[in-house]
Amino acid sequence: SKQTLILLYGGRSAEREVSVLSAESVMRAVNYEKFTVKTYFITKSGDFVKTQIFDEKPAENEKLMTNATIDFDKIVKASDIYEKDAVVFPVLHGPMGEDGSIQGFLEILRLAYIGPNILAAASTMDKLLAKLVFETVGVPQVPYVAVFSDDNLQAAEQEIAEKLQFPVFVKPANMGSSVGITKVGSPSELQAGLKEAFKYDSRVVVEQGVDAREIECAVLGNNGEVSATLPGEVVKDVAFYDYNSKYIDNKIEMAIPAVISPDLQQEIQNYAIKAYKSVNGTGLSRCDFFVTADNKFYLNEINAIPGFTQWSMYPSLWANMGLKYSDLIEKLVELAQSAFETRE
Ligand code: ATP
Ligand code: MG
Ligand code: MG
Ligand code: MG
Repeated sequence: SKQTLILLYGGRSAEREVSVLSAESVMRAVNYEKFTVKTYFITKSGDFVKTQIFDEKPAENEKLMTNATIDFDKIVKASDIYEKDAVVFPVLHGPMGEDGSIQGFLEILRLAYIGPNILAAASTMDKLLAKLVFETVGVPQVPYVAVFSDDNLQAAEQEIAEKLQFPVFVKPANMGSSVGITKVGSPSELQAGLKEAFKYDSRVVVEQGVDAREIECAVLGNNGEVSATLPGEVVKDVAFYDYNSKYIDNKIEMAIPAVISPDLQQEIQNYAIKAYKSVNGTGLSRCDFFVTADNKFYLNEINAIPGFTQWSMYPSLWANMGLKYSDLIEKLVELAQSAFETRE
């Protein structure tokens, strides 16, 4: 009999649309000789809505139901997704998806799930906490200043002026897809940047801006046994890889593998694995680095549930290593089951 793969998509965060695209991609690529796919859309307000069930490959133009097309009579209790021996893929990004909350819920339900465990999700979702962990294990990062919403703003601005050079990047700690991030070119724009970031989180990170290439490495495995791909590069024709350039304008090109020296490639892979292990990485992560013209490199962040359309960086990096998209999904299912068995 076939195994049930449950896809959770949509979600409460600002990255909802990205999640739908990733989930549709997974739903199209799954090997339907092995899996039945059941899907649930999570609305902005957090309701779980039962959507399509696929027993065979859906038509090429089939879309998962979202706000406009869902049937509100099919709202279920979140715990009703439970099905014995099913594996859940929470294809959710950002807060309430990538931050440990849904992972904790799935553990309570005693379901196997793909991707980061509670600790890996929570610690990588919070850019501030992640920086502290990476610092501890000696992974290079750009200088930064933490600002909390109840801090004295003048003092914070002074600390930023002392420790960092403009431009700086102002980021809400707990977000993704560049939502709430501002590149701030001068002290006079700092307040506006902070205000924007505080819309999303009370914890904000102000980072030294670097003029750098963006090199990303895909990591796969559960903590003990982890492998990393050759890195790829996000080739930008924009100054900053913002939400529009990522998802609206299609301005991103990827170079896979990235054209970098073998030494640098090895170091990036090693630091990607080190960073992943430091947060108890489980399932998968995309580790994103900055590389400057003089070959200095810094870890920017770990995305524990990276964009997962067939054409996204993470699956493309694995495809370059010979692991094709549908096999990658199966590998993730296996890792989910083995993490589940360890827990139970
Ligand atoms: P993701 O979609 O990858 O989860 P995110 O919202 O977590 O993105 P970051 O990756 O931290 O955000 O930043 C978004 C983009 O802003 C980066 O890909 C890069 O283009 C630019 N950027 C961020 N921080 C810096 C920095 N310190 N120096 C230069 N560019 C930066
Ligand atoms: Mg991110
Ligand atoms: Mg992200
Ligand atoms: Mg990023």
